[in-house]
Amino acid sequence: MVNVFDMTKLQLEEFLETYNIKKFRASQIFQYIYKQGITDWDDMILLPKKDRELLQEKAPIYFPEVMDRLESSDGRTVKLLLRMADGNTVESVMMKHDYGNSICVSTQVGCSVKCVFCASAKNGFIRNLTAGEMIVQLLAFKKQVTPELHSLVLMGTGEPLLNYENVLRFLHMIHEKETFYMGYRNITLSTAGIVPRMYDLAEEGIPITLAVSLHAPTTDIRKELMPIANTYPLEEVIMAADNYFVKTGRKVTYEYILVKNVNCSIACAEMLTRIMKGKNILINIIPINDNYDVGLRKPSQMEINRFFSYLQKQGLNVTLRKEMGSQIQAACGQLRIKRENI
Ligand code: SF4
Repeated sequence: MVNVFDMTKLQLEEFLETYNIKKFRASQIFQYIYKQGITDWDDMILLPKKDRELLQEKAPIYFPEVMDRLESSDGRTVKLLLRMADGNTVESVMMKHDYGNSICVSTQVGCSVKCVFCASAKNGFIRNLTAGEMIVQLLAFKKQVTPELHSLVLMGTGEPLLNYENVLRFLHMIHEKETFYMGYRNITLSTAGIVPRMYDLAEEGIPITLAVSLHAPTTDIRKELMPIANTYPLEEVIMAADNYFVKTGRKVTYEYILVKNVNCSIACAEMLTRIMKGKNILINIIPINDNYDVGLRKPSQMEINRFFSYLQKQGLNVTLRKEMGSQIQAACGQLRIKRENI
């Protein structure tokens, strides 16, 4: 089935020409969709009625139904659960920061990486999302919440680098002037560390920020949280991240979820310092929320502060993430799991 959200403007022009529709109509259609948020052929009244009817027949638009919408009490986090055409549901989150609105997009339905702390992995991998299914997540916020989109993070459900082609296509599409005109420097892709694809991404010539979910200072500790560490040892992940910096000039961010009795000791902080010292990187510390289902607990405030201060004193560039959205189940996959009871 042809999906207009999967098409670049050039592809839409070619598609229209096969049905003898003037190619300048592609600009009008893109204006309707991306500037006005209109996603129904019937409402694109600048198009001749016969063209609208033809498009309705040849390329019917399915726009996701909003199954659920949650908003934090301070209004700074909004989460949408969207129903795709095949009935699968996908979560997306908007966070309103002082510098602008950031959207967290899902790239897959479910996830095969199976990090133990992650709700998305609970029911395994179902399928990849197309570029168009990522585009509609942005459009849904544009329609439902605000047209002001500042930045994008690929940190929702799924491992973006395991859906490489579609994610790349999506990034190229949203960068276009006719769509969201999203600067590459305003985009962050988060990966669990799919080493070969990290090298590929470094060669793409798109200066997005790479965020690596490290979560441990050794491969053995990492294996407790992320089974992917059995495939890609920590040293290889860091080498691939170093290469990304060399090739793109973009500072890599390391995400480090802090878990009681697993990776929050001073010994872990020391090991992390040894690996990271001298690198031009950012380490983002994220205390986990208690998750009794899988036996992971949040460290005490004293442990969190001790770990954070140790890294700071060693001169590492480190931040402690302030929690956003925990009251509305903003951790990836939680809303979908709750809704579908999976
Ligand atoms: S944290 Fe990301 S990579 Fe890991 S299981 Fe969840 S969605 Fe997949």
